[in-house]
Amino acid sequence: MTLPRLTVRWLRAVPVTVPMKHALGTSAATVRTAPVLLVDLETHQGVTGRAYQFCYRPAAAPAIVCFLDDILEAITGAPLVPADLWSVLSKRYTLIGVQGIVRMAMALVDVASWDALAQAAGLPLVRLVGGIPRPVPAYNSNGLGLMRVDALADEAERLLERGFRGVKLRLGYPTLEEDLAAVRAVRGRISDDIALMVDYNQALTMAEAIRRARALDEEGVYWIEEPIRHDDYAGCAQIAHAAATPVQIGENFSQVYDMEKALAAGACDYVMPDLERIGGVTGWQRASALAAGAAVPLSSHLYPEVSAQLLAATPTAHWLEYVDWMTPLLAEPLRIVDGMAVIPDRPGNGLLWNPGAVRRYAA
Ligand SMILES: [Mg+2]
Repeated sequence: MTLPRLTVRWLRAVPVTVPMKHALGTSAATVRTAPVLLVDLETHQGVTGRAYQFCYRPAAAPAIVCFLDDILEAITGAPLVPADLWSVLSKRYTLIGVQGIVRMAMALVDVASWDALAQAAGLPLVRLVGGIPRPVPAYNSNGLGLMRVDALADEAERLLERGFRGVKLRLGYPTLEEDLAAVRAVRGRISDDIALMVDYNQALTMAEAIRRARALDEEGVYWIEEPIRHDDYAGCAQIAHAAATPVQIGENFSQVYDMEKALAAGACDYVMPDLERIGGVTGWQRASALAAGAAVPLSSHLYPEVSAQLLAATPTAHWLEYVDWMTPLLAEPLRIVDGMAVIPDRPGNGLLWNPGAVRRYAA
């Protein structure tokens, strides 16, 4: 298949702030509104590619826009070849480092580029990267933050509507006993065949992580996510060795190089790269190949609309992390049927803005 020839004409970025239906209450911070940047990449051929970025903090959006302007200066008129653009921009940002806000801007361009190429080819993104649109198993990652333990069970039950086969509970309460009470409250309400993932968001020390992970081995937990500092791969390896429950990390892998180091260190049983941090669709493909070579199950982190397309073409695809934050902003939000994400069988990555909502939530 020959990729359509497109060249970069313009980048447009619109910051929005969307209220979240469920607050995200993690051990690190509580997020109640989602600061999101919507990006359109226009080509001279009339095709417009789309991407968005969850910015974590509202202050990140204008900073990313500054870098998008800087990127545009470098790539206006350039052929839309994502791996080449990634190389050119990596070189441009060698001294400041391809990380944080710089990498967010680069990933936006990469995701939007792939969308434009898929649209021009008349194919859903999944087909362009070698897969077919098929249902992708998803767990519901909305809600279940650090909250009053007696409210958790009802929320878990609500989150299983639409047939989800898994939910994720945030842990990192002050004591192990409170963590156990939270897990038992949820596990006691949902049926045994529902996967219960738990996420510490890097809250624990090594010693405490080993103590809590061993205790959780008795509680029917599906994976333990980011128990300690995300880049302490030797520490993660010790926890993975000490606990029977699989250890999951990866949302903080910065490009495929971090994932390579983590796998070499035996830091985890599962990986869950983030579409932005891993380096957009181009970075995902490298991560997907690495996971396939190591036979490690690969899940996604946030960004469910585009991640679903990529998981459908990932050899060791595991779970899609589903969050509904983008639902109000999309003309066609990602559909979940019987707990599976449904990939739309139309050209592109599935992102189409809802103009009324974009105006309403403009930041
Ligand atoms: Mg996490």
